[in-house]
Amino acid sequence: MPNLSHTPPTPASPGDAFEQLPLSPAVLENLRRLGYLAMTPIQAASLPITLAGHDLIAQAKTGSGKTAAFALTLLSNLNTRNFAVQAMVLCPTRELADQVTQEIRRLARAEDNIKILSLVGGSTMRPQMASLEHGAHIVVGTPGRILDHLQRGSLNLESLNTLVFDEADRMLDMGFFDDMVYVAKQCPTRRQTLLFSATYPEGIAQLARQFLRQPQEVKLLERHEGDKIRQRFYEITSEERLDAVARLLKHYRPVSTLAFCNTRQQCRDLLKVLRTQGFHALALHGELEQRERDQVLIQFANRSCSVLVATDVAARGLDIAQLEAVINVDVTPDPEVYIHRIGRTGRADQDGWALSLASTNQMRRVAAIVKELGTQVEWHPLAELPPASDQPLLPPMATLQILGGRRDKIRPGDVLGALTGDAGFNAAQIGKINVGEMNTYVAVARDIAMDAQRRLAAGKIKGRSVKVRILEVNAEAPTDAPSRANASIKRRGL
Ligand code: ADP
Ligand code: MG
Repeated sequence: MPNLSHTPPTPASPGDAFEQLPLSPAVLENLRRLGYLAMTPIQAASLPITLAGHDLIAQAKTGSGKTAAFALTLLSNLNTRNFAVQAMVLCPTRELADQVTQEIRRLARAEDNIKILSLVGGSTMRPQMASLEHGAHIVVGTPGRILDHLQRGSLNLESLNTLVFDEADRMLDMGFFDDMVYVAKQCPTRRQTLLFSATYPEGIAQLARQFLRQPQEVKLLERHEGDKIRQRFYEITSEERLDAVARLLKHYRPVSTLAFCNTRQQCRDLLKVLRTQGFHALALHGELEQRERDQVLIQFANRSCSVLVATDVAARGLDIAQLEAVINVDVTPDPEVYIHRIGRTGRADQDGWALSLASTNQMRRVAAIVKELGTQVEWHPLAELPPASDQPLLPPMATLQILGGRRDKIRPGDVLGALTGDAGFNAAQIGKINVGEMNTYVAVARDIAMDAQRRLAAGKIKGRSVKVRILEVNAEAPTDAPSRANASIKRRGL
């Protein structure tokens, strides 16, 4: 599971103290301990409504703190003495379900013994069924897997009082409509229902009509602080578009860039162009298997991949810190989507670039964006973009995959210890460490990758020798030397 680091959203004014809400002193104390000093705007707008027991439809951008908004609500509806499932959160993907589970766990620390269970595909049914038999207060899961449990009778929802649809529009995009309807129909009719969605297509309206009772609506389109995100538009012809992305990268040289395409085909085409030019780029799309998706996200978040190419749907909800640039490969017809996209950069105290490519026939779309922003945008000529250096743009890190994970009781400290102990590297050369169920991923400085791979494979972790390989970001370019080296190392029996 990718453990993407979180950037705290901008809190609302200090007037929006959690203390004004009907929350217990223990919950308030826990929030202080977590460093949640004030409510974010979406929390300030929705918590007074939901803590009063109303149904809610909320629209807000990624990273605005929606999880805590519904988590605090479902926790306040919870009776811990009743050992039955009382709250259920439906999420589109496993990694989002994992992020939500972690956040609820943090917020639930105020009380002892609240049991939260994650029910997602990609892991086997049996252990989940065993955990359910032991009892849980809260379940978080993907609609498909929850439906499986309902049909096998392993999940009982009779005591449910809170149902949450998180990233509802994305669940629809992923074809979960029927599963969501089935699952919602299994819930008691007397309950509170909360629906979170970035957009409001007809499918969402239909769900809301069918499953929410007199919902109140909250919609927050966050305006970005203009000075932190520097927006530039470039006029191009359609033929120049993909090549222009490469020129932008060569000129601005951002460490991490999220490049948004309007279609999957455009993602594929762009990935090809970038890789041919030697960029370390990966694409995120719906056809990836869960394990591949995890690997892509881990490599991007740990800075082993310079460019992540994605559609809006694929990138939705992911909380990625440290993004130097967002490139709009194409102008989106929906100005709200533009605002959503560029809000991914310039988080926390960092500046960010929002670079957009527009062809002449797309000026109407740009005009809609200008109207939504309420300010003019800056135009720059493409010719102004000489490469800033003739060195290729390389990511600072590379990822080593260790075949072994939580199941083998490996913890991040064990990996760090192995690299800084016997292997002799210093901690500054080691980046993020993600321990998954069966695999562990560690980012190391690019120039020590081969050495680190060899020494880890030759040494021991948790008293056992492990297989280690370098994950290659740029499969098509001629830089697959490390994997050939791997092969020869193995042959030499190292
Ligand atoms: P969303 O679901 O809207 O995309 P998240 O719920 O994932 O956003 O929140 C983004 C990050 O902000 C998380 O790391 C979370 O811990 C943090 N966060 C949420 N609320 C607050 C708050 N009131 N103060 C500080 N940090 C917060
Ligand atoms: Mg969320």
